[in-house]
Amino acid sequence: MSKIVCKFGGSSLADAPQFFKVAEIVNADPGRRYIVASAPGKRYPVDVKVTDMLYKCYELAAKKRDFGPVLHEVGERFRYIIHNLGIGFDMDTELDLIASVLKAAPQRDYAASRGEYLNAKILASFLGFPFVDPADYVHFTDDGAYDSERTERDMADVLTGLPNAVIAGFYGARPDGSIKTFSRGGSDVTGAICAAAVRADIYENWTDVSGMLAADPRIVMDPRIIDRISYRELRILSYMGASVLHTDAVLPVSRAGIPINIRNTNQPEDPGTMIVTDTYDRRYAVTGVAGRKGLSVVQVEKAMVSDGAGFVAILLDIFRKHRIPFEQCLTGIDTVSVVIRSDLFRAGKERVLAEIREALVPDMMDVKEDLSMIAVVGEGSRDARGVTIRILNAVEQAGIPVSTINQGAGDLNLIIGVPEEDYEAAIRTIYGVIK
Ligand code: ASP
Repeated sequence: MSKIVCKFGGSSLADAPQFFKVAEIVNADPGRRYIVASAPGKRYPVDVKVTDMLYKCYELAAKKRDFGPVLHEVGERFRYIIHNLGIGFDMDTELDLIASVLKAAPQRDYAASRGEYLNAKILASFLGFPFVDPADYVHFTDDGAYDSERTERDMADVLTGLPNAVIAGFYGARPDGSIKTFSRGGSDVTGAICAAAVRADIYENWTDVSGMLAADPRIVMDPRIIDRISYRELRILSYMGASVLHTDAVLPVSRAGIPINIRNTNQPEDPGTMIVTDTYDRRYAVTGVAGRKGLSVVQVEKAMVSDGAGFVAILLDIFRKHRIPFEQCLTGIDTVSVVIRSDLFRAGKERVLAEIREALVPDMMDVKEDLSMIAVVGEGSRDARGVTIRILNAVEQAGIPVSTINQGAGDLNLIIGVPEEDYEAAIRTIYGVIK
């Protein structure tokens, strides 16, 4: 029988009707054996996520203020779910325990984790699956770093001994038993850990969209859904701003060669997006486009510098000392351009520029702020050069000045810099070429 790990996000488990949809999806395929649950998310746009309510409880508890009414509201969300599912669940005991821990020694991660803990327990009871508490199997070190080796071993041990299970997402524990969460959206990471641990055939990530979009829908009207994308392409688009999965969720499964399938709980018949090792059999020359604003470029020029060694290293070291990681470093004959985040650059800007002047004595130094970067990817694209030329032509014809071009060899992997004010127009222009 196949082994499928399914992670259901907050909106997929926001209320009882969503639980019924989840049960139908799980029961539709006997391979769907290991289910990772998030805390109840938003039921409608202005709703509040249970995790946010729990953070609020912690904040009040930490200030020794009354968190009772907020915790009561959390309890009501769960009670409503339990009532409509028609299952028995001792909510009073659970809430009393949370309240007493928060009163005695409030801990932020403990508070936040209770949304996943309760939701997974309720789902386990509803599906008739055993509940697995990640506090026992997802390990962090004393200083809070994720311990992948111990976790994968222990998670593999417990899950392979169970025919099926519901695992709470988002958290684990330190050696002293104190709860530690991943960063927000971290149930994706728990799902990936479980998929790697059981060597799943596929990791299904169920959410409220029918896959990853080829462009930002706030900018482009009705962008197409990406049917297939490689891990590498996903990494580039996510880094550049496309949000679909927690970034730490990719490594455990990509290392094990397990495909990820992004699916829609509200439209389970849609095939969604497959994230795979390579994208053979592609339908589109371009997989997608994404970008980021808030960048600056520092360009340094010095005659004959390319004949020597160490110029770029010295330049990058100045940024490193100021804790400004570079996004891109483009070198030409005797010129170097470093792309950095404006928010990290702004405070120490004058000192950084003074240090560059002193260390490198450049012939020319230019700073451009308010830039954006746009990445276009299409691995294995047969016409990478042709598409690149068409994109650059279209951007040029739209009257958008391109300040930097960075093109990977072979596959289509183009990153261009345009002024922030032209960002949306550039994305729309590029999408017009690639759709
Ligand atoms: N519930 C957590 C959050 O809201 C984790 C998750 O949903 O993955 O960030």
